[in-house]
Amino acid sequence: MDLGIKGKRALVCAGSKGLGRGCAEALAAAGVDLVLNARGAEALEATAAMLRAAHGVQVVTVAADITGDAGRAQVLEAAGHVDILVTNAGGPPPGLWSDWERADFIKALDANMLTPIALMTALLPGMIDKGWGRVVNITSQSVKAPIAQLGLSNAARTGLTGYVAGTARQVAPHGVTINNLLPGIHDTDRATALDAGVMAAEGLTAQEARARREATIPARRYGTAAEFGAACAFLCSMHAGFIVGQNILLDGGATNATI
Ligand code: NAP
Repeated sequence: MDLGIKGKRALVCAGSKGLGRGCAEALAAAGVDLVLNARGAEALEATAAMLRAAHGVQVVTVAADITGDAGRAQVLEAAGHVDILVTNAGGPPPGLWSDWERADFIKALDANMLTPIALMTALLPGMIDKGWGRVVNITSQSVKAPIAQLGLSNAARTGLTGYVAGTARQVAPHGVTINNLLPGIHDTDRATALDAGVMAAEGLTAQEARARREATIPARRYGTAAEFGAACAFLCSMHAGFIVGQNILLDGGATNATI
């Protein structure tokens, strides 16, 4: 399918690895030029080089922490007026409700709620002026159904979801859509880190920890970054202009809900 976005320009945050990289690659495959961000320069440059070689698109890199004011300013300066924004950042650590102090919540809110909001605040006006834009926020399955040990994530991402629900309706008249993609377990470094937590807590091998988590998914496997990226690129496409303010689960059926 021709996504109809060849020649558009996208900012993909936290995109050197994992789900962000999957989104960057699917957009590049659709002919979208990229501003790509992550903190570590080495993986970022390697991903950018791969995307340029494989898809012939322009890729500008900005090695910076997207959750800090200085890093975000650097990224926004490089981005200028983009047509597409994919927000993403690392997820907060797991733990127990009684582990967390105010500072832990502020850090999680900064990373997973206030950073995407700041990026939208900066970039939505340019999209509105052009009469076309797409925003996809990478959130989590935990927005639909809580993951008990991810209380910091549950809290911050639900806040972002509430913000998007209203804001998406305010910008839709201008041809701009905002939607959230909710990953369940995907085969990325983040999933490996969470598997390691299960291994440590329960004395399992890596294979046992993974098999245990795969068994909780009706699809009986982890999702891939490529599948995730394809869904992101579709939401950014010309065909998705009527999809507004939605929360789309990509979880292999793991969230047991009728709608
Ligand atoms: P990942 O494989 O660990 O990749 C994270 C990417 O984000 C890397 O490119 C990393 O590069 C970059 N990054 C992290 N923190 C950053 C920051 N502060 N500023 C700029 N770049 C940053 O993680 P993932 O699995 O793709 O997860 C992406 C998001 O989806 C996370 O918020 C995660 O919690 C959420 N999620 C993932 C899953 C899953 O199963 N994978 C499920 C639910 C939700 P650098 O480290 O070099 O910065």
